[in-house]
Amino acid sequence: MASRVEQAVDKRVEQAIEKLKMTGVRMTPQRHAILAYLLQTDTHPTVDEIYRALEDRFPNMSVATVYNNLKVFLEAGLVRELAYGDGASRYDADMSEHYHAICEKCGKIVDFEYPALHDIEEAAQEKTEFAVHGHRMEVYGICKECQQVELSMT
Ligand code: ZN
Ligand code: MN
Repeated sequence: MASRVEQAVDKRVEQAIEKLKMTGVRMTPQRHAILAYLLQTDTHPTVDEIYRALEDRFPNMSVATVYNNLKVFLEAGLVRELAYGDGASRYDADMSEHYHAICEKCGKIVDFEYPALHDIEEAAQEKTEFAVHGHRMEVYGICKECQQVELSMT
């Protein structure tokens, strides 16, 4: 029997497929697999990582296919892109309000919940007279696993 987590993921995949259908996007097995993969992971994978996770199941799939599908999901509001300047973008299908902690050693991105910082948007709007649409906030540090590695080396 499917676990509760699996059932929750299935539900989210179904809802995402519904949303895509409404925007007129056709479902293909690859598109379905990419979407399902993104919804069941919390690792914020890059295009390459998604490709490598699925290439065994879809030998004909290319990195470009993954990339093009991500663009479709972005336009449909099903995923968000975390761009890092010159580095590879990472993708997050968790559209709930949450923030990220990033490990400066291993690059891991961990979700954490915190009440959305609406007051910073208001302050920015007041001080800059921008029409503010949103914000992105990340904390940086060393993750628990990397801290333990550091400890074991001393
Ligand atoms: Zn780390
Ligand atoms: Mn996230």
